[in-house]
Amino acid sequence: MAAVEVKNISKIYDGNTKVVDNVNFEIKDKEFVVLVGPSGCGKSTTLRMIAGLEEITEGEIYIAGELINNIAPSKRDIAMVFQNYALYPHMTVFENMAFGLKIKKTSKADIIERVHEAANILEIEQLLNRKPKALSGGQKQRVALGRAIVRKPKVFLFDEPLSNLDAKLRGQMRIEISKLHKKLGVTMIYVTHDQTEAMTMGDKIVVMKDGVVQQIDEPIKLYKNPKNKFVAGFIGSPTMNFFTGKLNVENNGFRFTCANNEFTIFIPNNRAETVNINNTDSLTIGVRPEDIIINSSDSASIKANVDLIETLGSESLYHLNIAGQKFIVKSTVHLDKNITNDVKVSFNSKNIHLFINESAI
Ligand code: ADP
Repeated sequence: MAAVEVKNISKIYDGNTKVVDNVNFEIKDKEFVVLVGPSGCGKSTTLRMIAGLEEITEGEIYIAGELINNIAPSKRDIAMVFQNYALYPHMTVFENMAFGLKIKKTSKADIIERVHEAANILEIEQLLNRKPKALSGGQKQRVALGRAIVRKPKVFLFDEPLSNLDAKLRGQMRIEISKLHKKLGVTMIYVTHDQTEAMTMGDKIVVMKDGVVQQIDEPIKLYKNPKNKFVAGFIGSPTMNFFTGKLNVENNGFRFTCANNEFTIFIPNNRAETVNINNTDSLTIGVRPEDIIINSSDSASIKANVDLIETLGSESLYHLNIAGQKFIVKSTVHLDKNITNDVKVSFNSKNIHLFINESAI
């Protein structure tokens, strides 16, 4: 059981490429924290520095209050689960799970007990005598998890563990890892580029871009109050719609006018009077697909052309445009996929996000 503290850490490769830039975060004991961001943003490097697989160029990392910068990986009391499982092909599942304990000279009786306990938790007892080549992708990943569990580490580290699985299995394993976290009650740090994994699994999410932390928050807070346009666009599927244009302050809010005057929206905001807008500012509004109402009878509704309709069953995705400004609407209203006429839309103006020079106001 352990808290993890990452203080001002940076990683510089080849003397000049800074791929992790002054990263700070704290993970409480028993917390499940997800590092998320696009490929190449420095998530794995950060995790590998915690694991001791990469040297820390600058900064400090503490596990359970102990500075671990100069402590060997094997002494950090952590276990890492990788994307490629890293199972030994010539060993059985039992032997794979027992391997780390054998190296640590754990007694035979203890090994047998711990392997069976982990196999029971993961429901893989019937696979203990099989070799990895006789396992499915999901079963291999369970064995990799089992190998981590038997060591009873202070902290579990996961590096994109589900990337090799198909969509359905990824969904199942996501749930299993979350359940495992609840059952074991241990600190877990999980790296993924997949915002759905981050949203569904994390107690707390660290969003990274270009080696820099953009925002740290609980999933729903990130979704509702993104600090900047990058986080707003990265979290949520389909992605948030963005429109650029002009903004004028009115009583108790703003009047947004889209770049080519296609439409205007009143955005209520009690901080409007205190916001300083310069003519040079780049202005963007962000609207989530579920915050645009289709077939709206609102008097302020706007006509939109239908480019495509995707029917998902419980809801439909409408790919629309207003005078070429493309956007997506998610709605439980189902319209005929082949309609050719315009639809009317209105914006749930209370939930509109406002960005000036990339930052949310
Ligand atoms: P992520 O996990 O977010 O996809 P990584 O942490 O793996 O990103 O990589 C961050 C950046 O560091 C990338 O641009 C990658 O090319 C670079 N990088 C990773 N490992 C090395 C290395 N050993 N030498 C030089 N650059 C590296």
